[in-house]
Amino acid sequence: MSIITDVIDKVKRVDPGEPEFHQAVTEVLETLEPTAERHPEFVKANIYERIVEPERTIMFRVPWMDDKGQIFVNRGFRVQFNNAIGPFKGGIRFHPSVNLSIIKFLGFEQIFKNALTTLPMGGGKGGSDFDPKGRSDSEIMRFCQSFMAEMFRHIGPETDVPAGDIGVGSREVGYMFGYYKKIRNDHTGVFTGKGLEYGGSLIRPESTGYGAVYFAAEMLATRGLDLKGKVFAVSGAGNVAQYAIEKINQMGGRVISICDSSATVIDEQGIDADRLLYLQELKNVRRGRVSEYASTYSNNVTCIEGKNVWDVIRDQGIKVDVAMPCATQNEINGEHARALVQNGCFCVTEGANMPSTPDAVRIYRENNLLYGPSKAANAGGVSTSGLEMSQNSLKLSWSREEVDNRLLLIMKSIHRSCLDAAEAYGRTGDYVMGANIAGFTKVAKAMLA
Ligand code: GLU
Repeated sequence: MSIITDVIDKVKRVDPGEPEFHQAVTEVLETLEPTAERHPEFVKANIYERIVEPERTIMFRVPWMDDKGQIFVNRGFRVQFNNAIGPFKGGIRFHPSVNLSIIKFLGFEQIFKNALTTLPMGGGKGGSDFDPKGRSDSEIMRFCQSFMAEMFRHIGPETDVPAGDIGVGSREVGYMFGYYKKIRNDHTGVFTGKGLEYGGSLIRPESTGYGAVYFAAEMLATRGLDLKGKVFAVSGAGNVAQYAIEKINQMGGRVISICDSSATVIDEQGIDADRLLYLQELKNVRRGRVSEYASTYSNNVTCIEGKNVWDVIRDQGIKVDVAMPCATQNEINGEHARALVQNGCFCVTEGANMPSTPDAVRIYRENNLLYGPSKAANAGGVSTSGLEMSQNSLKLSWSREEVDNRLLLIMKSIHRSCLDAAEAYGRTGDYVMGANIAGFTKVAKAMLA
């Protein structure tokens, strides 16, 4: 048994019942085997066993009152995973599926993602199993304040800097930041994804989606291709999906799908700029369902209830060139991946975190797809969070162009680091191995130092 398999076994043994965390650890560590051979100092310092153990795990009670005066309790989490290269950094997720396993997997992934960004940020993640769906603004505010009433003591601009994730957008960041500021009497860069009026960065809302498309463009270029005329399947309908669609349109591609937790919409003519504006108003202002999009644009638009985008592509044999999962973890399984390959898909760029199961990833790799794993492809969001932190420290605001240019350069640099690391370990073009090794090596050297 190698040191790597020992560590994977130990994680499964000491933390049973954490399947998503096991999946993320296995996926990363299995590709790190050659680093152990090349860096005996990592083995000697037991870096592999140390890196899978969070620095600190905080779990807490979040009681809150609904508009009728009824009291509920949810569980809050903050996993401060690794701060070897900078303050803990990572989003907060509010979704009923949230549990320790999911927060640990996200925090673990965040370590390597953040290391790839070139910016000094460690890895962390937080959240709650609170379901914001259907809740009023005042209910959301009370929940956010109760969450912060505990979280505030664990975070700080040089300690741990949260941001949004699924279920946490600018409204929730505003409520949490406002409460932190009130308790601490401090206006600091303790959160990213803040509103522009109080220290946020231009392009932050767009950056995960834009970054994932920039990454796709870089991958396509390695085969002499670009986005023009390509058909994209995008899943999700939130922040990441919306700005991925915007950037794909700008670069000449066509997006034929979106989905939410209840339905998938297929729009063969493509979600153009006007339709995207409608979608943004529907999701961000009215907080409605994608099925409404289908009723509004009924011509050549179909709505399939109870299925995700990948089910529909499989069932209907829809041709796509590029798949961009932007919804949630494990949304694409092996069967979906096989169907994608059969329907002509040659590139997968992950906007969501770990949206492909290990089976799906195996199928991409066996079929030589261009595959941009989430920790590289969706790192644009946290990169721009890093740029927001820089602006806050400088007490300056950069222009849209300045931030977008930096984002583009960072995505190109991440792409290059993945290819260089893969090349250096004899696995040309393997973005999975490249992303894991490049991210890990940086953190491991810092831990060793
Ligand atoms: N939630 C995003 C991610 O998964 C962004 C985190 C951040 O900006 O800190 O990377």
